[in-house]
Amino acid sequence: MAVNVVIIGGSFGGLTVAYELRRHLGTGKASITLISKEPRFTFVPSLPWVAMGSRRLSQISFDSRPALAAKQVDFAHETVLGIDHEKKTVTTGDSERRYDFLVIATGHRSANETVEGLDPFDGPAHSLMSAPEAEELGVALERFLEDPGPVAVGAAPGASCIGPVYEFAFELDHLLRRRRLRHRVPITVVTPEPFVGHMGMGGAGTIRRLLEDALDERDIAYRTNAAVTRITADAVEIEGGSPVPSVLSMVIPPLGGVEAVAKSPGLSNPKGFVPVDAHYRHPSAENVYAVGVAVAMPPVAETLVPVNFPKTGHMTEQMATIAASDIAARIGGGEGRTGELAARCVMDMGDRGVYMAVDPVRPPRNTIPTVSEGRRWLLAKRAFERLYLFHARRGRRVPTALGW
Ligand SMILES: Cc1cc2nc3c(=O)[nH]c(=O)nc-3n(C[C@H](O)[C@H](O)[C@H](O)COP(=O)(O)OP(=O)(O)OC[C@H]3O[C@@H](n4cnc5c(N)ncnc54)[C@H](O)[C@@H]3O)c2cc1C
Repeated sequence: MAVNVVIIGGSFGGLTVAYELRRHLGTGKASITLISKEPRFTFVPSLPWVAMGSRRLSQISFDSRPALAAKQVDFAHETVLGIDHEKKTVTTGDSERRYDFLVIATGHRSANETVEGLDPFDGPAHSLMSAPEAEELGVALERFLEDPGPVAVGAAPGASCIGPVYEFAFELDHLLRRRRLRHRVPITVVTPEPFVGHMGMGGAGTIRRLLEDALDERDIAYRTNAAVTRITADAVEIEGGSPVPSVLSMVIPPLGGVEAVAKSPGLSNPKGFVPVDAHYRHPSAENVYAVGVAVAMPPVAETLVPVNFPKTGHMTEQMATIAASDIAARIGGGEGRTGELAARCVMDMGDRGVYMAVDPVRPPRNTIPTVSEGRRWLLAKRAFERLYLFHARRGRRVPTALGW
């Protein structure tokens, strides 16, 4: 009888596991079901462009059902409510499914409750952590441009997704300069990082100096070691410091695991993230795997204000590849490969891009990080988005050697 694999989540982690499992196993050996509360795949790294108005959501997302069907992966458009790892079942509002292998790729929950005013739908702050939030920020930005004033761009204590902070600050600076409005908008970056460019991974080669110079060059002020305590309609308040005036605030929240996982007994740590071993298997729940943002990863070091370890799309795909190879190998009676996570990414700086490559992500590293700046990287970032979407909607993966 075919082995029953259930995957929860239809983004970078879930789709990669599904496609890789089919590649390894072919069709007869396993029945694969992917459950996702969203039927569409969204290319999340382009959300800042949605907020800036240079992309519509329809341009950076697609219905993942045809691609999954072509790979003979069943799709269930349902929201998982709980997992019972002893009974090996997943419960949604509509069904209870049994699994032989389970992969949790449910991403994050924004812990907006940690800072007053942080929730974009219930407070003055704006965010980029999901498609609806990026669209909400886009609407707020249009209103702001009619009557501009000071802006704060930052991350709350414990955040791990810091790249979009710099991207949004640089993109906004670029937009305002093109419209000759920059002189009316003081921009301040407010970050828990101990230094600019730490990014939760202890920095990378020359990125600190490159970003400091780029911020100085563009008259973008920055405050590091900053613990945001409250966001109001006209300021971002910081522990032990003067408030940063701001009529538009984009603040990235700290993350936790989604409720369905956090509330399922015996699966996650207190933040709702899933502990894993080198194969991305849960250490005690039998045949449960987790990949991507759902995985528990400790920070690189203690910092004055907490900053957590980043989990990028590129890293998520590596985790998913390792987990899928292990599941496939175990179905055949073996064991899959393991490997350290590397990261490549390109950050949009408005008029150019900066490319970073670290191997491994967690220092100390085997290679000296590559940090390179130029207009070609911005063009590469745009091209990669199109290439990724072209392949993913056809059920294919972009070779990771092409970078992110
Ligand atoms: C603004 C922004 C910019 C970024 N830029 C980059 C970049 O340039 N490069 C890079 O490498 N990374 C970037 N990242 C990080 C990257 O987007 C994430 O690492 C990636 O999205 C993680 O993928 P994932 O599959 O783990 O989770 P997610 O993408 O969060 O997807 C989670 C999936 O689980 C589903 N789900 C959740 N809960 C349930 C439930 N209860 N039941 C059913 N389904 C559920 C969701 O619908 C979704 O399909 C960026 C992130 C943000 C927010």
